[in-house]
Amino acid sequence: MTYDLSRRSLLALGAGLGASTVLGSNAFARAPKLGTQPAYFYRFGLGDAEVTVVSDGPLPLGPPKGTFIGVPDEEVKKMLSDNFLSAENVVLEQNSPIVNMGDRLVLFDTGMGTSKAFGPTTGRQQKSMAEAGIKPADIDAVVLSHAHIDHIGGIVDVDGKPLFPNAQYYIAQSDFDFWTDEGKLGSPLKDFVVHARKNLLPVRDRLVFFKDGQEFLPGVQAMAAPGHTVGHTIFMVSSAGKSFAFLGDLTHHPILLLEKPRMQFSYDTDPQQAAESRVKLLDMIAGNKIPVMSYHFAWPGYGHIAKTSEGFHYYPEAMSLNL
Ligand SMILES: [Zn+2]
Repeated sequence: MTYDLSRRSLLALGAGLGASTVLGSNAFARAPKLGTQPAYFYRFGLGDAEVTVVSDGPLPLGPPKGTFIGVPDEEVKKMLSDNFLSAENVVLEQNSPIVNMGDRLVLFDTGMGTSKAFGPTTGRQQKSMAEAGIKPADIDAVVLSHAHIDHIGGIVDVDGKPLFPNAQYYIAQSDFDFWTDEGKLGSPLKDFVVHARKNLLPVRDRLVFFKDGQEFLPGVQAMAAPGHTVGHTIFMVSSAGKSFAFLGDLTHHPILLLEKPRMQFSYDTDPQQAAESRVKLLDMIAGNKIPVMSYHFAWPGYGHIAKTSEGFHYYPEAMSLNL
């Protein structure tokens, strides 16, 4: 038997199916659409640790033009459409791992929080955490890759009250100083500075500044990745011989800033330096086959990076619902 896949024959096939189901019975279930989704968390093991990724919700950037720069806009759009992604709206996820090390619970980055600068779909980290059965009061450490709005925004609630009352907060001092600087309130960075001050100043006395290369918590090592911001940092997270790299904003997109890692991102403080950090650290990660947990890649953001002739390729790890 051969299948004729012309449009006309597919239409005929659809009509035929309709007719035959009518013949079978008229007692259709007529079930209403449910309109619900599973909870927005994902859990997996890492050595002796348990990792729960929670989402702050999708963050739509809009058309790539003016945001992904240094490569002609037509080429950027082709990269997106060749990968079956919208060329009109680049959507980033916000994936935060919470690592239960056995003796402490460590959260990486906190989402947009109350800011709606990128629309209504962000700001669900607390909800995702509740769905995952994790209490904010049980978080011992909040580790921040940098002080941008979509990473520090969920530290305080709408009234400015810290949401993780028992946590210490870890960030690079250069990033804290840059983004809480009152002197930048009159600059184009104003919105970012306002939000950083709103979230970081209430926990100022609980902040710990890490250094490049330092294992500032057992199993969590800082690796400076400057450029996106002055103190932008990625983290090697390890337990019982297993590791992943939490990438923060080393690359925002699994295609655009990865396949062409020298492409630039308009939110970079120093785009040139960001590209250098990206290439250097991804080279190390790919060379050592270290799994990655990426904040902005498609949910849940866990996978592997391999080198290609021009840049890198991302292989998402299949989700497994067996623990
Ligand atoms: Zn980000």
